[in-house]
Parts: sequence; C-alpha cells; structure tokens
Amino acid sequence: MTGKVYLVGSGPGGLGLLTCRARDVLDSADVVLFDQLPGEEILTTLPENAELIDCGKYGGMHLREQEEIEALMIAKAREGKQVVRLKGGDPFVFGRGGEELEVLRDAGIKVELVPGITSAVAVPGAVGIPVTHRSCASQVTILTGHEDPTKPESALDWNLLAQSRGTIVILMGVKNLPLIAQSLVENGKNPKTPVAIIERGLRKDQRVTTGPLEQIGEIAAERKVAPPAVIVIGEVVSLYREGEPWLIPL
Ligand code: SAH
Repeated sequence: MTGKVYLVGSGPGGLGLLTCRARDVLDSADVVLFDQLPGEEILTTLPENAELIDCGKYGGMHLREQEEIEALMIAKAREGKQVVRLKGGDPFVFGRGGEELEVLRDAGIKVELVPGITSAVAVPGAVGIPVTHRSCASQVTILTGHEDPTKPESALDWNLLAQSRGTIVILMGVKNLPLIAQSLVENGKNPKTPVAIIERGLRKDQRVTTGPLEQIGEIAAERKVAPPAVIVIGEVVSLYREGEPWLIPL
C-alpha cells in the first residue's frame, strides 16, 4: 500500500467551516500533523488511533522546524500511511503549503490538496464586511504584515499598495500595524480610510476594532489587540455595523 499526504485547510473557525472532503480525509487519517490555528474543537474529533503530531508555533517559537515537519510527512507516507497536514484557513494562503507541495513532489510522494475557507475572506465576511463590493472595491489584495515595512528589503511595494484602489487585507499584521499604517499614509493613502481589525474571527470570543488609518495603530494598542487577527483597510469597512448580531452564528 502506498501512502499519501493530504494538505488540508481547516477553515478559520470551528467544525462547521470544515469542508466535507476535509472531514472524510481526517476520518481516515493515520497521522495528523497540525498547526496551532485549526483549533482544539477539530482535534477532539480525530480518529482515536490516529497519531497526532503538534507542529504549532507557541509564543513565537516553532515547536518543530519546517524541515523536520517535511521529513516526518515523507517518512510516514513511505510507511504507507494516510498523512494529513492540517492547517488553518486554506493551505495555500500564507500556510507554507506551496513549499510543502514542492518538497513532497520532489520526494515522489502522492499529494492531494483539500482547500479550506481562508480567514482573509471569511473573517471579515462574518462580521458583515465583504472584501469586494460593486460600488467601492473592484479588487482585493491579500498580504502578510509579518515584514517590517520600513526595511528596504521588504518584498512588498508600499507605494504601490498605497496608490492601489480597492481593499487591502492583512494577515499576521498585528505587531507591525503601526508601521504599516504609517507607511501607507506616508505613501499617499487617505489617512481617513476606514480600518477594521477582527481578532479570533469566527470564534466565540471574536472582537472587532475599527478606526481611521491614521489612528488605528494607537487604537489597537489601547485595546491590546492580539493575534490571530485579520486587518481590513478600505471603504468596504464602512459597511460594518457595530452591535449587529454576527451574520454567521458561532
Ligand atoms: N492559511 C491561513 C492563514 C495563515 S497565516 C488562512 O487561509 O486563513 C495566519 C494568520 O491568519 C493569522 O496571523 C491571522 O492574521 C489570520 N487568521 C487565521 N485564522 C484567523 C481567525 N480565526 N481570526 C482572525 N485571524 C485569523
């Protein structure tokens, strides 16, 4: 019997946002290598005899190096096992799924991608913020806020981002939010552009913070905004209504 690796997206929240394919694949898994984000609810529903391997990041420290995770997947698949690599959201949206696909392919391992609902779209959506809108956002840019925007070697062009119309969605951006907001304003983005930060989206303790681009860094610090959070910058944020019951029941 030959093994196989499934790169599976768990979606942004609890069990309800897992796809049917992801559920099937998890139910027949021999080994599940999981990240921090998929959430404990899903982990309690895995087959009793499945081997669970924690690959999360805690307090900024990776429990396992990427190379170790990849080597484990390859070794387990070569033992003939059904291996699930479970990631939050979609595996190919800032999930290192692309890197893992390449390594597995090079090792001659069979791979299947099971897409997931990405937090970049679903988390704003759940609080009533559509990332596109016919009247004010014909494009959406999803970027990582992990990089310090003041570093000259930044892979992101902040000038271009500031000029572009439409919605900017930032993942992993809480720590650098003040610098990101400042870079966008310095590069010409309207300082009054509305911003929303959704912490722990689609979880019971989700929280939304809003404010204009020029003040959002300060507001976030005051409210002690913490990861995981999705940041949305653009006119679509004005569709958010505070106090409205969540559009998706949690
Ligand atoms: N592959 C994932 C993203 C991984 S990067 C996806 O498609 O959703 C991790 C970042 O995703 C976090 O830092 C945060 O910005 C965002 N994120 C994921 N789940 C989230 C949630 N439930 N609420 C808020 N942000 C979330």
